[in-house]
Amino acid sequence: MAAQSSVSLEKIVALCKRRGFVYQSAEIYSGLNGVYDFGPLGAQLRKNIKDAWLNHMTQWAEDVVVMDGSILGSAAVWKASGHLDNFSDPMVDCLSCKKRYRADELELQKPCPSCGNRQWTDVRQFQLMFETNLGALSDNASKAYLRPETAQAIFINIKNVMTSSRVKIPFGIAQIGKAFRNEITPKQFLFRLREFEQMEMEFFCKGEDAASFFDLWIERRQHFYRQIGLSMDRIRMRQHAADELAHYSQACVDVEYEFPFGWKELEGIANRGNFDLSQHSGHSGKDLAVFDEATRESFMPHVVECSVGVDRLFLTLLFDAYYEDEVDGEIRTVLKLSPRMAPVKAAFLPLVKKLNEPMEKLYLHIKKQGYSVLFDDAGSIGKRYRRYDEIGTPACFTFDFESLEDNAVTVRNRDTLQQERIAIDRVQEYLDAMLKTAE
Ligand code: ATP
Repeated sequence: MAAQSSVSLEKIVALCKRRGFVYQSAEIYSGLNGVYDFGPLGAQLRKNIKDAWLNHMTQWAEDVVVMDGSILGSAAVWKASGHLDNFSDPMVDCLSCKKRYRADELELQKPCPSCGNRQWTDVRQFQLMFETNLGALSDNASKAYLRPETAQAIFINIKNVMTSSRVKIPFGIAQIGKAFRNEITPKQFLFRLREFEQMEMEFFCKGEDAASFFDLWIERRQHFYRQIGLSMDRIRMRQHAADELAHYSQACVDVEYEFPFGWKELEGIANRGNFDLSQHSGHSGKDLAVFDEATRESFMPHVVECSVGVDRLFLTLLFDAYYEDEVDGEIRTVLKLSPRMAPVKAAFLPLVKKLNEPMEKLYLHIKKQGYSVLFDDAGSIGKRYRRYDEIGTPACFTFDFESLEDNAVTVRNRDTLQQERIAIDRVQEYLDAMLKTAE
């Protein structure tokens, strides 16, 4: 049977739990809706995603510097950004079964999908930001919000970054960090969460250059998805129609992926004009315009934004990599993750426990060089191969009795299933070559 992508959301959820990628948060207390914890493999995959993104963002001729803003934000920030007034979704309740829906995801002339009755409340706007209070007093002055996006910390710090790190327009500021949205209906596992992590880059340039930087970043971001191994026939760039654009936005392209539940946004790339900096200048009374040495004039930089969720990309990678095929008469589940993204690069497997010692020596040597690798002596060799296929490990090294004689191990390729014999002192070279071809 040829490898097939017979992936479904249920299969991904089950695999994630079984192998320690993702757990429902507070599971032993019956769970917290729209919030997840990440196990050892999940944490490693997230790290690989974030490393790849940072690497991509900071490799160009133009400077892109990195910052780390606070999660708590004052009401003033979110007033200026427009979130306090506009960051809401329309909500409607079924009067009969009390189930709550996003009104824009429902046809209100039809009955409730849950109970079949048709008795709706009025549609109300529901603020998506989580509100809290700083300090012992809870009044209007102590109000703060968990950030619903990371971008605002970048905008309000543009002057700090420019004066402290000598970057000049055009340049970007990148940031990875948690964001929180009180989504009315969190769903599709990691696709729509209440607590998630964003990777955002705001690129500042002159107004006349914004359109060409916008095109350039679209091209670069496409290249990124190719580099991390996503199937490009399941990726498309969707230009927003004029009536979809926010009033300040010049243009917006969604990078969409074909999930089993349809084409959906993976990343948003937007030419935001100078709206954000103008808003913060106006509201704070601090001029965020930049002085141009050449023309001796100040100007308000324009912004091109690239924004993608770590969790949404995590889910996309798993969907994209999931295959089932038949090996030795059994169905094999395999994640064909690119070696660069795979949480475990190689497994070290002694054929029998008697051979543990020499294999462990090789394993520890490779591990000490900083590779993410595992040692495993539990179960038959076939079972162990399956275990590593299922978590996307590209190479398995096996130490057998012959290894004692010829100082070589067998390496099995996850995708081709081919096995070859290589000298023990070439194992590291093999791993380097494997990781390099994946770039
Ligand atoms: P959507 O239309 O899916 O709600 P959005 O347009 O509100 O998304 P943005 O505000 O543009 O999303 O956020 C940028 C990126 O952050 C999204 O492309 C997505 O990858 C990620 N993201 C946004 N909201 C969530 C969420 N609730 N859970 C997980 N990831 C999210």
